Amino acid sequence: MKRLLAVFAHPDDEGAVAGTLAKYARSGVQVTLVCATKGEAGEISDPSLATPENLGSVRENELRCACEAIGVSNLHLLGYCDSGMEGTDENRLPAAFINADPNEVKGKLVRIIREIRPHVVITFEPYGWYGHPDHIATGRYANEAFQLAGDPKTHLEAGAPWQPARLFHAVLLVSHFKDMVDYAREHDLDLDFPDQFPVEREEALVGQITHRLDTDPYREVKSAATACHRTQFGEDHMFRKVPQEIIAAANRYEYFIQAEPPLVPPTSPSEDLFADLTTD
Ligand SMILES: [Zn+2]
Repeated sequence: MKRLLAVFAHPDDEGAVAGTLAKYARSGVQVTLVCATKGEAGEISDPSLATPENLGSVRENELRCACEAIGVSNLHLLGYCDSGMEGTDENRLPAAFINADPNEVKGKLVRIIREIRPHVVITFEPYGWYGHPDHIATGRYANEAFQLAGDPKTHLEAGAPWQPARLFHAVLLVSHFKDMVDYAREHDLDLDFPDQFPVEREEALVGQITHRLDTDPYREVKSAATACHRTQFGEDHMFRKVPQEIIAAANRYEYFIQAEPPLVPPTSPSEDLFADLTTD
């Protein structure tokens, strides 16, 4: 059986690869999601949905709802707190993910990898999409755990070594959301996109893309998964109000860079993360 492990930071991050996860889940791949935090520093779109005190448990339920829509069979929460965007008070909380003991985090991830024995692992690219400290930390730890899990000399307490075959960095091309963002601005909808996106960085990422998956057949799954995150994407959020055709066009492709083993970007990107892979 093919197995895929996705490692992200907050409930709703999985939305960026929801079409890919849905595609593989529906073709019999076992799909597991790791989420480092419960997104306690996120928005509360409607005060009747949550309070700052219970936002973590509300978002955990929203994530479980999204996992069900997507077809994720196992969800592992690492149990850390959302560190917030760079420069916010949450950065200093002792329980914040960015302040966690690195060895402990790596040990948890190595244990999950050795338990699940995935062939393919997906996580953030090094800039964490838009520089969120938790995204950057999650990507770094997932990269390290990918290497350590197969090493019989480390984390002896975490089970028998297992080396996943491939590591992918999920790439979010914000420029593809331009029509959606323009529509949202014109109609005064809630936007949570960075005002200034590093265009040069996106161009550099585009040049490294090795895989591109057409997720159009899963557009309804993706919008159902998005709708689960009610505290984040309220009634006036662009993900809920922009016409579905514009969202579907912006969201159609999900992009990846094969980080391990490194791969020279082919002329036309591969459409399968498991292509030519022997799995047991
Ligand atoms: Zn996030």
